[in-house]
Amino acid sequence: MTETVVSSALTPKEHREPSRLWHTFCDMNTVAKGPEFVVARAEGVWLWDQSGDRYLDGTASLWYCNVGHGRAEIADAVHRQMTTLDAYTVYGDFANAPAMELSERLAAHAPVADPRVILTCGGGESIDTAAKLARSYWVTQGQPQRQHLISRTGGYHGLNGFGTSIIGMERFRSGYGKLIEDTSVVRHDSAAALEAEILRVGADRVAAFFAEPVIGAGGVFLPPENYFTDVARICQKYGVLFVVDSVICGFARMGNWFGIERFGVSPDMIVFAKGVSSGYLPLGGVVVNGRVADPFWNEAGNPFLHGTTYAGHPSACAAAMANLDILEREDLFTVSREVETHLDSALRGLADHPLVAEVRSGTGVMGAVELTEEALNERGVTTAEVFAEARTRGVIVRPVPKALLVSPPLVITWEQIDHMTSTLSSALDAVM
Ligand code: PLP
Repeated sequence: MTETVVSSALTPKEHREPSRLWHTFCDMNTVAKGPEFVVARAEGVWLWDQSGDRYLDGTASLWYCNVGHGRAEIADAVHRQMTTLDAYTVYGDFANAPAMELSERLAAHAPVADPRVILTCGGGESIDTAAKLARSYWVTQGQPQRQHLISRTGGYHGLNGFGTSIIGMERFRSGYGKLIEDTSVVRHDSAAALEAEILRVGADRVAAFFAEPVIGAGGVFLPPENYFTDVARICQKYGVLFVVDSVICGFARMGNWFGIERFGVSPDMIVFAKGVSSGYLPLGGVVVNGRVADPFWNEAGNPFLHGTTYAGHPSACAAAMANLDILEREDLFTVSREVETHLDSALRGLADHPLVAEVRSGTGVMGAVELTEEALNERGVTTAEVFAEARTRGVIVRPVPKALLVSPPLVITWEQIDHMTSTLSSALDAVM
């Protein structure tokens, strides 16, 4: 496994001592007792730790490194931008060329009518933006009672204020007192459930419906046949704004720009982040259709009083532009479809493993290997153990409570996919 010895500025003692870095998703009582897993270097689909051991990045970090690690041209573009105009706000009428060009480019490809683009620093911030904009839009329409937001079981929309309030996973919602009110969650596998909920709440009270094209962090759940056509029709019927959260599904992970094109519908807003810059610098945003934007653009005295300091950051936008250049030049849209097919068949090879209940994959470069209830509840197997066994063997996968998730960079080869799935299989064997 050891291929390259990476020199490090840290002394061996410092390697072993846990730092003061708070890993917020983790039980720090456990993490603080052992050495942290320090990633020292990355290139393509590979990571190296401080000892020089190499790992296949089966998760593209946290679903975002679509073009793979170590792309010098993104670094060069950022360097050029930083030595030209490092950063400047887009507050008021200030603008900068990378923010304007990126907005034009995203608007040109978004399946949204007459699009406008709001830029942010990430996914959760963009969800807050979309939720506030949806509610605000209805105020401009003389319907301030339209505030209710509907989302789906298993849906993950980041952990900012609105994201925490609409997330479809209970464990992320509790312990914070009263969350944002007028929200509800419906089953992710039924358009009829959405319609029933709109009718229960009262159509004239529902502002928007939020959905990921394929549910990612919640466990890779694919939509049933015709789901999004039905959802789009239902939203239109009741005047509910349809907000697509493409934070994971965008920028070629589903073989197109925003994921939702796969289902042939045109939403009112698309939330994006992650793959837009492949994570080289933090960036996100919302593509908004003209119907929603017009009351703010066409009527005087009606600003959308929302935004953040680093929105439209020119260096982050330059990273995104260079990243999009790579996606287009290497046609990672087409490559992604081929990777999707190979990944799907490789993952399905794990379906017969005695610990595996189900494999979910085949739409987008992502997949879930769910463990059986018997493994989880009777044998006491945890996905964290499987993750640890895979990492010891040189492959990074992502554990969620019932499943191991994969979402590799789109530049992964067939051989590397097979290496990833066979290592996952050995990790499963190891915990039996
Ligand atoms: N929406 C989806 C679908 C996500 O997967 C995520 C993050 O994983 C977010 C929103 C939140 O993005 P961020 O972590 O950049 O706030």
